[in-house]
Amino acid sequence: MLACELALAQVRVVVLERLTEVDTTIKAGAINTPSAEALYRRGLLPPLAEVQRAALETFGAFARQRQSAGASVPRPVPRFAGHFAGIMLRGDLLDEADPDFAGSGPAGEVGLIPQEALERILGARAAELGVTVRRGVTLTGFDAGDAGVRVHTSDGTLEAGWLVGCDGGRSTVRRLAGFPFPGTAPSITGHQALVEMTGADALGAGWNWTATGTYVHGPLPGRILTVEFDGPPADREAPVTAEELQTSLRRVTGVPDVTVTKVTSATRFTDNARQVPEYRRGRVLLAGDAAHVHAPFGGQGLNLGLGDAMNLGWKLAATVHGWAPEGLLDTYTAERHPIGAWVLAWTRAQVALMRPESHAAALREVVAELSGTTDATTYFVKKISGVWQRYDLPGSHPLTGRSAPDLELSDGSRLADHLHTGRGLLLDLADDPALRARAAGRGDRVRVVTAGCPERPGLTGLLVRPDGFVAWAADAGDGPGKELDAALERWFGAPAAVAAQAVPAP
Ligand SMILES: Cc1cc2nc3c(=O)[nH]c(=O)nc-3n(C[C@H](O)[C@H](O)[C@H](O)COP(=O)(O)OP(=O)(O)OC[C@H]3O[C@@H](n4cnc5c(N)ncnc54)[C@H](O)[C@@H]3O)c2cc1C
Repeated sequence: MLACELALAQVRVVVLERLTEVDTTIKAGAINTPSAEALYRRGLLPPLAEVQRAALETFGAFARQRQSAGASVPRPVPRFAGHFAGIMLRGDLLDEADPDFAGSGPAGEVGLIPQEALERILGARAAELGVTVRRGVTLTGFDAGDAGVRVHTSDGTLEAGWLVGCDGGRSTVRRLAGFPFPGTAPSITGHQALVEMTGADALGAGWNWTATGTYVHGPLPGRILTVEFDGPPADREAPVTAEELQTSLRRVTGVPDVTVTKVTSATRFTDNARQVPEYRRGRVLLAGDAAHVHAPFGGQGLNLGLGDAMNLGWKLAATVHGWAPEGLLDTYTAERHPIGAWVLAWTRAQVALMRPESHAAALREVVAELSGTTDATTYFVKKISGVWQRYDLPGSHPLTGRSAPDLELSDGSRLADHLHTGRGLLLDLADDPALRARAAGRGDRVRVVTAGCPERPGLTGLLVRPDGFVAWAADAGDGPGKELDAALERWFGAPAAVAAQAVPAP
């Protein structure tokens, strides 16, 4: 994702990936609203919609298969809206009129996107954008200086201006660069796998709490998840075997004769919750799990990484191109660290609630009862879906710092259509030459679009950053003034010389 963002901004980028093929291990099964919006803003909705359609078909097949075998099918949750520590949230209790849910446009229609499928979609896009992806190449070391980074790999050395460690929870880049990684120690052993098994009809469907842990069966045929609470895995590196999965499954479910006959995909996880305090050390940056690790409950990790990439991509590109205003790159940590810290806390809360002991069970009862209300359901769904996320940006308009609403414009386009190029966007919604004039000299960084917006007649102007977040907005009567000038300067730097404007924008 980051490589695509950089390439879109005309930065030469090389991805080193030690795996020779896309990782097919079953991990994330869904993306949240900010991720869907980000991908939509880059024109990737059609392949996502296709992946979701196939995923829904597979879920339906699982329910039918269990029904025909006479096994339990998860009690239909009216319009499933997510879960917290396995406590299901009901879509029919959700206050959909809450303003935080508005404005995603067609991005609101995709969510069920497995990680492997997303990686393939992004891989294809990277190829289209001309990114060099060197598979089967491992980063082994680097020397970072003031002017650049010399990167050592299993296949030679290369010179780069910048190095971003997107190399996962056990990041080599993080370790070698000496980033501190404070947080809380692991306490659980989890497994997630796609298996073939016999005796599975005796397993409960959906989330189940037992005296020895928590387990999930479904919603895909053969998908199991077990969580045990008596310490972290003894060996994180060893391959996950059928025997290990079966032992865990029998122990947690209490079903003595469930037998794993084949493992298609398996992963082991724990709840180590750590985060680097600063995402940058000189010319070395971190993004994704390399910057933060936590338990997978609640489906946040992949989304957090995509958000990091969207936030960092244009800022690093601006720095490479030399037009970044002072301090722009450091707003990456300032904006992304609080969201990462929230995810760590959110997953810790779920681990506490899932523990197989009476105090946690009692607390689960309380939370389950609360979650049967509209207020609590709406609270949880806002958190899980990511619609609560905003950046603390200077500016007085309520939209500032929020994901831009996908406005439908009078020329038939939508706001997201104008973000495909990865440039900033100044929407002149009141045909105001004075407003347009303020963006002069930044045509290579900010696209200016004049159109009406019947659904928001009061809104006269909107400045959207390349990552889709609102940097400035104005209502009728506000007028384009100092706040817009300050926002343009802060996010897009000083106007280029008039001569440079003759060069067509990419
Ligand atoms: C069981 C499980 C369930 C999950 N469920 C969800 C979910 O529902 N929703 C969600 O949002 N997230 C979920 N996650 C989390 C999600 O999978 C991760 O947060 C996400 O994969 C992080 O992406 P990343 O690119 O930062 O790191 P990774 O996906 O770990 O990618 C890092 C890449 O770097 C490569 N690499 C590492 N070191 C080197 C090196 N030295 N040289 C070259 N290449 C290297 C690796 O091969 C790897 O491909 C889940 C995770 C697990 C384990």
